[in-house]
Amino acid sequence: MASAHAKVPFAAAQTLLVVDDREANLIAMKALLQNGDWNVRTAISGVEALQCLLEDDVGLVLLDVQMPEMDGFEVARLMRGNSRTRFTPIIFISAVDHTSESVMRGYATGAVDFIHKPFNPQVLRHKVSSLLDHERSRRDLQLLTQQLESERAFNASVLENAAEGILVVNDEGMIDFANSAIAQMLHCQVSQLQGTRLLDHIETTTLQDGNWKESQIYEHWRRGMVYRLHDAFLRIVNDGLLPVALSCSPLSRQQRSMVVIVLDMSVVHSLHAQLESQAVTDALTALPNRRGFDQALEAALARNDRNGKYLAVLYLDLDGFKRINDSLGHAAGDEVLKRVADQLQKCLRPYDILARMGGDEFTALLDSLDHPEDAARVAEKLIEAISIRYKVDGMEVTLGASIGIACFPDSGRSVDAILRAADMAMYEAKRAGRQQYRFFSPEMNGRARSRLMLEESLRVAIEQNEFALVYQPQIYLDTGRLRGFEALLRWQHRVAGSVSPGVFIPLLEETRLINRLGGWIFRQGVSQCRTWPSFSQGLVVSLNVSPVQFGMPQLVDDLRRVIEEEGLNPAQVEVEVTEGALMADLENTREQLRQLRLLGVKIAIDDFGTGYSSLAYLRHFELDTLKIDRLFISNMLDSPKDAAVVSTIINLGRELGLEVIAEGVETIAQRDWLIDHQCHIMQGFLVAPGLPVDRAQEFPLQIDWRDLPHSISK
Ligand code: C2E
Ligand code: CA
Ligand code: CA
Repeated sequence: MASAHAKVPFAAAQTLLVVDDREANLIAMKALLQNGDWNVRTAISGVEALQCLLEDDVGLVLLDVQMPEMDGFEVARLMRGNSRTRFTPIIFISAVDHTSESVMRGYATGAVDFIHKPFNPQVLRHKVSSLLDHERSRRDLQLLTQQLESERAFNASVLENAAEGILVVNDEGMIDFANSAIAQMLHCQVSQLQGTRLLDHIETTTLQDGNWKESQIYEHWRRGMVYRLHDAFLRIVNDGLLPVALSCSPLSRQQRSMVVIVLDMSVVHSLHAQLESQAVTDALTALPNRRGFDQALEAALARNDRNGKYLAVLYLDLDGFKRINDSLGHAAGDEVLKRVADQLQKCLRPYDILARMGGDEFTALLDSLDHPEDAARVAEKLIEAISIRYKVDGMEVTLGASIGIACFPDSGRSVDAILRAADMAMYEAKRAGRQQYRFFSPEMNGRARSRLMLEESLRVAIEQNEFALVYQPQIYLDTGRLRGFEALLRWQHRVAGSVSPGVFIPLLEETRLINRLGGWIFRQGVSQCRTWPSFSQGLVVSLNVSPVQFGMPQLVDDLRRVIEEEGLNPAQVEVEVTEGALMADLENTREQLRQLRLLGVKIAIDDFGTGYSSLAYLRHFELDTLKIDRLFISNMLDSPKDAAVVSTIINLGRELGLEVIAEGVETIAQRDWLIDHQCHIMQGFLVAPGLPVDRAQEFPLQIDWRDLPHSISK
């Protein structure tokens, strides 16, 4: 850049070279010509002259023709052969009269003048002066030309090498100049662009009109303003559109044109597209993610040409995936998810949309179904496809799936509503025992709504400590002695008052909030009882452990920490687990029971008789206590079958050496029946409901059976 714009200094020093083989002539010439306007140098021979010409910047040579060895003609010839001296003017000086032939020869070798001795010094000085002036002008011109040429080359190289497309467009909208970058962008030659209309190359939708004088570009140019267009499209010759950004800046007035800079935005565009696709794609399975599915569903809902066909959304949740993830690690879990995605995809039609919503949840969008029941058939197929054995890391694992189905428009009209409906239906399917599908029904909605509100209040309740434990006494039937208490959770809602555990416990389990509360229950139960005077007498506190809690690996650690920190004898703590929780995952059950046993706590089976009631496991598991479900107790006096169940359980307990607790004993008659059948322990309203701490700690170690309130007995 510097070279183009720095001014080349003009040759200021003017040197005159006089060449003669006679010293006297040289001295005379020097004396004659020397003045302030130029320097005079002398050379005694042709060779010395050439030497001097190479060393010095000589503006004019006065050259003696007759010289020994190398005459003036020869010197002139050699000067013309050298680029440095090619144009240096020469005046020949000769003492002899020359033939016109030799004079011609002199001119041919480049002389600009021929002077004969003797000459008029005045005339010679004028000649020298004007020739030097001439030479100076010639050199100035040469320099200017060089400078201009280098500037032109610089500009041309800037235009040629610019990565941006550059066009010069005149006020008629025609392209006067195009650089090679723009030609490359449009897949054509520069010559194909020159002389064409700019607007013919721009996609009209971006400019609205094809009329130059009405275009924004022209309008801006007319007002001397820059016009920028960030999202324009240029037509590529025979090949679609190129996204570009344009800026059109007016050139100076007299040029009556503008320069248009074109930025290729295709990379930026494809980056955008890539980012967008990443935002809607699940990286693991390459299926659409939640956002992608939302978009697809949104688009499907926007179609209104349904022609009586149905649209259904299937919400699928894997059963048993968590176990794989927990036991085999995340890499194995990922592998399983990928395979599940493949399996699901295979069951669907090419135009159905399968997505992964996150975790082990998938959704499918089925459009154009003839009947809603078709969605059920697909759901069956999916469940079947998932429920195969997978080999992961050499281990065989089995999975299941629960599916909720929501149809448009019955289950909802918006993306949110339909997805929520499908999700609710999926929960119903899970609740109904997994490996099933359920259609959404409006009742679910009502239930779900109140459940949602309840769930929210539960979270608040945990944060604000709205929970408390009450303690229900357990009494030895034969003596009336106190065995201990079962800790029961209570929720005192700020506004709604006390909420039934039958309502909130299942919810705590479903939302897994029970895991957060579980630790608190242990801590609270153990620390409260420990301080009661009666507890030094070896009483037992029974803590309920929900199936969700029982499935958690840290259960025993939590319990151990609490027992150790509170300093209670582990044998004074009993955990109550339902049959269902024990049977859900036998491997886990075995391990948990083993650890609990190591810890030294008692283990009770809660609600015994209502669940699987598989007697087989009673032999396999080491247990301490059976709790007969309240339902059998309340019916046993009227129903011989229930009575048979109760007495069987009592006998079973005796056979296996387990304590048997009858729950929900409300009447003296029930109590007496139980005493007759040698049941060990009772628990129920007959003695007391769950008692708040202050009343529980005063509860006598021994009750007098005759003092029981007769009002509630039958
Ligand atoms: P559950 O473990 O079978 O608890 C016994 C339930 O029977 C308690 O209901 C208790 O109040 C009730 N009950 C006791 N005696 C009588 C009686 O004579 N008649 C009648 N009709 N009912 C009686 P509650 O407190 O409403 O608890 C319901 C269920 O909630 C419990 O059944 C248990 O499964 C669960 N639960 C309660 N507290 C906890 C807890 O701290 N953790 C966990 N995981 N679950 C709990
Ligand atoms: Ca219980
Ligand atoms: Ca129970």
